[in-house]
Amino acid sequence: MLCRRNLPIQEKIQQHIISKEDCWITDLSSPKGYPRIGHNQKMRKVSRVMFELHYGEIPEGMYVCHKCDNRACVNPEHLFLGTHQDNMADMVKKNRQAKGSNQGSSKLTEKQVAEIKFLLAEGKLMQKEIAQKFGIRPSYVSAIKCGKKWKHLSHQPINNYSEPKQLNLFD
Ligand SMILES: [Zn+2]
Repeated sequence: MLCRRNLPIQEKIQQHIISKEDCWITDLSSPKGYPRIGHNQKMRKVSRVMFELHYGEIPEGMYVCHKCDNRACVNPEHLFLGTHQDNMADMVKKNRQAKGSNQGSSKLTEKQVAEIKFLLAEGKLMQKEIAQKFGIRPSYVSAIKCGKKWKHLSHQPINNYSEPKQLNLFD
């Protein structure tokens, strides 16, 4: 009998892919939007595993980025290697093109929203205080917090973004 645990990781992943229409979507839990899978007692980002399976090892310090701008996607054809800078520049570029502060309707710049997200994550200021600081309604701050607004931005300020160490433990 084949024990499920011992399945090769690619087969394990295939079992979790629930849609293959253009972007491949999984039913795996996705902290920060990136699906992860447990294998050999480690949790790994599926996008990285898929990249390695199809293109070989990821050089140290390189990131797997999404052409499709969909973090949930694990379609190897949508993945490419980039440096941290590429990843951030790409994200910023896509944000500017697709959504965000040049849409015309928003009061805040992307940089401000990134700052708000950072402050929320930091947890030192109350939502009310953050709202005052930026001259916006507290309900808007909570909308940002819940991801109803500006979902596409990370909570880290773009200029001094650094991936929390903990995240890379098993990568
Ligand atoms: Zn995709």
